[in-house]
Amino acid sequence: MTGANTGIGQGIALAIARAGGTVIGIGRSSMEETAGLVEGQGGTFVAVKGDIADSKASVALLEEMMAEAPLDGLVNNAGIIRRADAVDFTEEDWDQVMDVNLRSLFFLCQAYGRSCMARGRAGRIVNIASLLSFQGGIRVSSYTASKHGVLGITRLLANEWAAKGINVNVIAPGYIETNNTEALRNDPDRSRAILDRIPAGRWGEARDIGDAAVFLLSEASRYMHGAVLPVDGGWLAR
Ligand code: NAP
Repeated sequence: MTGANTGIGQGIALAIARAGGTVIGIGRSSMEETAGLVEGQGGTFVAVKGDIADSKASVALLEEMMAEAPLDGLVNNAGIIRRADAVDFTEEDWDQVMDVNLRSLFFLCQAYGRSCMARGRAGRIVNIASLLSFQGGIRVSSYTASKHGVLGITRLLANEWAAKGINVNVIAPGYIETNNTEALRNDPDRSRAILDRIPAGRWGEARDIGDAAVFLLSEASRYMHGAVLPVDGGWLAR
């Protein structure tokens, strides 16, 4: 899994551990906290240092891991956001977000899929999209473009790989309490407006996404290909 040190990635790591799985996290920051929490539950967590912004280096890391032992699943969770009005949006903010959220995600899927096919093994990919895979958002041009892209790429890969035994699906988290949404939660007006629109009446927690990821990584989702699972407290239903 990419981005396991905090937030949704940490929630997914803990949920996988609760389900009895071993988690390998690829990320640039220390993953000690996640490792401690996973081990506290009796699970196993392996941290691998890597910057997802560099797609070639990330792919090389994944290939190295898969050369040692096949991986049952791949979770593409790492993601970043940049905020600015569209008229002021810079190429730097465009490229940085697209590189992490979409470019590396695609090439990691490609490397994982190639390895499964070469070994004749089944596989499972879970990508993390957003409500902004469906909606436009405001002041987040590259994030919205990248998350629409994650949805499209997930569907394309499902079409190409379903018959090869590789399930590729995507979770669309709603508003989850993580660093990513700290600015929104600290703005009383935005925070109230968001909460008022969520049927469940609360922000999501990382474990809400974690449990959904376990489902998509498990045999229980065997006939799901190219599916989008919103975990959003009902936001999209409204
Ligand atoms: P977060 O707390 O900011 O965590 C983002 C994760 O991505 C961190 O582990 C971060 O590691 C990692 N990451 C970012 N850039 C990286 C890079 N270049 N190399 C390696 N790792 C990198 O945000 P989050 O809310 O948990 O977000 C996780 C995913 O969920 C993202 O794809 C996000 O778009 C998506 N999402 C979140 C929400 C929400 O409400 N929170 C809603 C919809 C979708 P570092 O700490 O090292 O940067």
